[in-house]
Amino acid sequence: MNEPQPEPRRSKLSFFRSRTLFFILLPVFPLVSVYKSVCAWEAPFGLEWPVAAVLFTLLLISLAVSMKRGKDYLPQASILWSLLLFSVACDCACNLYAFTTPWQLPTSILMMMGCVCLLWVTLRWGSLLLWTPFIFLQLAQQVAFHHYGTRLNSLVLAETMEASAEELLTYLTPFNMSMAVAALLGTALFFFWLGRLLRRTHSKWSLLNAGLLFCLMGYLVGVVLPPHKRKPEYFWPAVEAYDLFLACSEALLHNQATIEQAEGLPLPTQKTSSMDILKGGEGVVLVVHIGESVRADRMSLNGYEKDTTPWLRAQPNLINFPHCISAACDTCQAQIAILTNARRDVWNKQPEMQPTTGSVLELFNAHGFDVYSFFGQRCGQKLKYDRVVRVLTKCSKERFNAPGSPWTSLPQIASVVDSNTKENILVFINNEGSHTPFHHYDKKFAPFLPSATNFQNPAAHAEEVNNAYDNTVHYTDEYIRRVVQALRGRPFIYLYISDHGEYLGHDGIWGRAALGESKFNYHNTTGCRVGMFVLTSPEFEKLHPHFVTALQQMRANSTKTVGHEHIFHTLLGLFKISTPYYDASLDLCSGMMQPYSGPMPENDSQS
Ligand SMILES: [Zn+2]
Repeated sequence: MNEPQPEPRRSKLSFFRSRTLFFILLPVFPLVSVYKSVCAWEAPFGLEWPVAAVLFTLLLISLAVSMKRGKDYLPQASILWSLLLFSVACDCACNLYAFTTPWQLPTSILMMMGCVCLLWVTLRWGSLLLWTPFIFLQLAQQVAFHHYGTRLNSLVLAETMEASAEELLTYLTPFNMSMAVAALLGTALFFFWLGRLLRRTHSKWSLLNAGLLFCLMGYLVGVVLPPHKRKPEYFWPAVEAYDLFLACSEALLHNQATIEQAEGLPLPTQKTSSMDILKGGEGVVLVVHIGESVRADRMSLNGYEKDTTPWLRAQPNLINFPHCISAACDTCQAQIAILTNARRDVWNKQPEMQPTTGSVLELFNAHGFDVYSFFGQRCGQKLKYDRVVRVLTKCSKERFNAPGSPWTSLPQIASVVDSNTKENILVFINNEGSHTPFHHYDKKFAPFLPSATNFQNPAAHAEEVNNAYDNTVHYTDEYIRRVVQALRGRPFIYLYISDHGEYLGHDGIWGRAALGESKFNYHNTTGCRVGMFVLTSPEFEKLHPHFVTALQQMRANSTKTVGHEHIFHTLLGLFKISTPYYDASLDLCSGMMQPYSGPMPENDSQS
């Protein structure tokens, strides 16, 4: 069983069956790819040589042991060629970086061959349980990247874990599902064939030697590159598997950290606060509407060529903020940034950017406002969204979920307003808005046609998908018109701000997953510019001279770049609620207001 196999020499083809030819040809591609790098050699390296030295030493030890035991020191030529073909196929099909420049396909092919051998030696058939899901995920990543411009990083995974059933179904189309099943079965069969092949090697030691040799070769080819060109991704699949593991654990931590942040904040009512300008019984309605996925540049209010916001555009007393930067591409973190005194997302490590107190709604509740919350149908899934929004709207006297379309909440809002004619009330709204899959609009009277949500291949259906999105913005415009109609005659102020944007091919992305890489970092993309405006009734301004000056100042500040960080303090400033948490430099109603200066796309600041 373990005796070296005599190499067949019967035909001209026999040369291809020899290991000599394999090892003569194997280095050709790596050498071609590193030729330029060797010429521009940049030494010394950091940890690279010690790692290479360890691999080399292990290889020497393994070779020595196999020779001493009289085992074949390398697998048969047929297995080596099959391994090479297998790795080339896997790499070309699944490795997102296979054809990026500088060309590092040889590195990853060598790495793949090495990893297959080493994992088979350690886990035998068990290794296929690791390979099959890994290759499947890599195939999924290829599809995700080419259709949606997205990598499976921690943000995407965190959002996928928290996606509503409706959102997930947009991506799980019958075609995508059958492709996924076929890919999973194909991958399993592919690896089953590999397992049967590897089982035929004469000794475990020969595979260990080959694994260490291929890994060492791949590693050396990778580290020959100058440091500024070297990317960990080139060491696919080893680094990719590690990255996926990190992304998964980061996603779980990320979601947990957001929930813990919201749940761990002390209430702002724990410190002394006061409000003098309203005594109670004025019948004031304060609407705080957190919009969903509305990009500023898709509102005709901000110059978009399609008239998506005809009603808002015609309101003479509207205070529009065309330059508003959202804090996070994650709904929950954006809501924390809007409703608490947080200035950035949970990842920001500067302590002064993190919240020190909870929801501003609590302060209004403490000063005579009954809070009524109106959610879309998403609520009640017991996901991160529900837990966070529940904490932030804890003081609600009543909560409403709108089954079906957001318009079903209109009679609920009207009934709350009508049954509280004398009371001051705060109406909190957060429904589906323009969230994927852009379903919420009046299909019978859709203004922009053809319109359909095709997330099978959005780039190929760009017109329909963009129209569907624009229809949802138009629908929100009509929704706001109807809410305002219910408030007619009341002193009201309506504040609208969207949580994050959406990508419709913008920045090369579809959907809502900004990438972690610097080029696609959320705040380097146009997706972080969101819709924001304030609407008031004449009755509101008549209540107190402070409201007149506050709104004048707000209008004066409206051309500046603002952010989610301004909302908490603006609501306090507008109603003159004094609390130690108030900061005039973040109050849009204050002459001391400072524009948003956090991360945003270049050439985007207005001050
Ligand atoms: Zn959202």
